[in-house]
Amino acid sequence: MKVPLLDLKAQYAPIKKEIMKSIEDVVDSCQFINGPQVKQIEAMVAEYSGCKSAIGVSSGTDAILCVLMGLGIGPGDEVITTPFTFFATAGCVWRLGARPVFVDIDLKTYNIDPAKIEKVITKKTKAIMPVHLFGQLANMDPIMEVAKKHGLPVIEDACQSIGASNKGRKAGSIGTAGCFSFFPSKNLGTAGDGGMIVTQDEAFGEKMAIIRMHGSKPKYYHQMVGANFRLDTVHAAVLTVKLKHLESWSEARRKNAEKYNKLFAGVACVVRPYIAEGNVSIYNQYVIRVPKRNELRDFLTKNDIGTEIYYPLSLHEQKCFASMGHRRGDFSESEKAADETVALPIYPELKDEQINFVASKIKEFYV
Ligand SMILES: *Cc1c(COP(=O)(O)O)cnc(C)c1O
Repeated sequence: MKVPLLDLKAQYAPIKKEIMKSIEDVVDSCQFINGPQVKQIEAMVAEYSGCKSAIGVSSGTDAILCVLMGLGIGPGDEVITTPFTFFATAGCVWRLGARPVFVDIDLKTYNIDPAKIEKVITKKTKAIMPVHLFGQLANMDPIMEVAKKHGLPVIEDACQSIGASNKGRKAGSIGTAGCFSFFPSKNLGTAGDGGMIVTQDEAFGEKMAIIRMHGSKPKYYHQMVGANFRLDTVHAAVLTVKLKHLESWSEARRKNAEKYNKLFAGVACVVRPYIAEGNVSIYNQYVIRVPKRNELRDFLTKNDIGTEIYYPLSLHEQKCFASMGHRRGDFSESEKAADETVALPIYPELKDEQINFVASKIKEFYV
């Protein structure tokens, strides 16, 4: 039996006709830039996320960059974030000449530990950027509280968590702005790169739309310096078809997670994902923490089971950030997560036999 980490073809097959028709409409119209489908998907995502505005952009990375630019973040500024995330979270801060200031994670959820944020706030702090990793929200109530106390905006890196919620509040709807990615391996993926910014602040949303178009409004009159951060119409067209299925796909992932959870119950070596109270995860990843992680991974690979490590090196230990002077031990929980976690196949179309096979191989490895 083969169990890939992700099977995008299985997702595509039943909706192929609808997607091809939607792409064909764009090609026929030749409105490749800012076609009506862009406004359509923005309205759909705003509604889905419980936000007033949604602005389609070229990627999740550009969503983060655009928000940081809109907040005026630049040289000398600091943005508080987690070291256990995809590189883009901190990379965007760095690209603007600002500094990511890392705060260790809560090893249970793998998300930023809110209790450690206030200690690192300085005069230079300009924003807090929690990441909703693997499909569940960071602990937003205490984060919003400390942000409010210090007058700081909160950027939700929700690239892995579109549709996830905490006490009924959707990812991206709680902070100043939320950032989504439509990278193909995310729960809502397009046929390439794409992203979106959501916000409850319509004026800020308008600013995002201007920055996305080189800072121009009206056309060719530049009030600020932006960039080309647009979402292509073709991607918007693909996403309008796929968004209708997102809820059922995320539900299927939750069901698969439940099955794994049952199969791993009582397996002492396997620390299962912990979903905090009030959270509904979309399980962009099902991540377990285990001893002998690399050996387990090799064993699963030999058995045709796809896995991935998100992420093998905590950001404070990355070579490109060496000038910040961090060293091993600075963020021990993040380091532990990087050393001991592995993501298992969780995609919606997984069959029960495949889930059983993955679990049985993992159990076999540890007996
Ligand atoms: C995927 C991802 C991004 C970047 O999104 P892209 O669309 O690939 O640019 C940023 N942050 C996190 C946490 C991500 O998972």
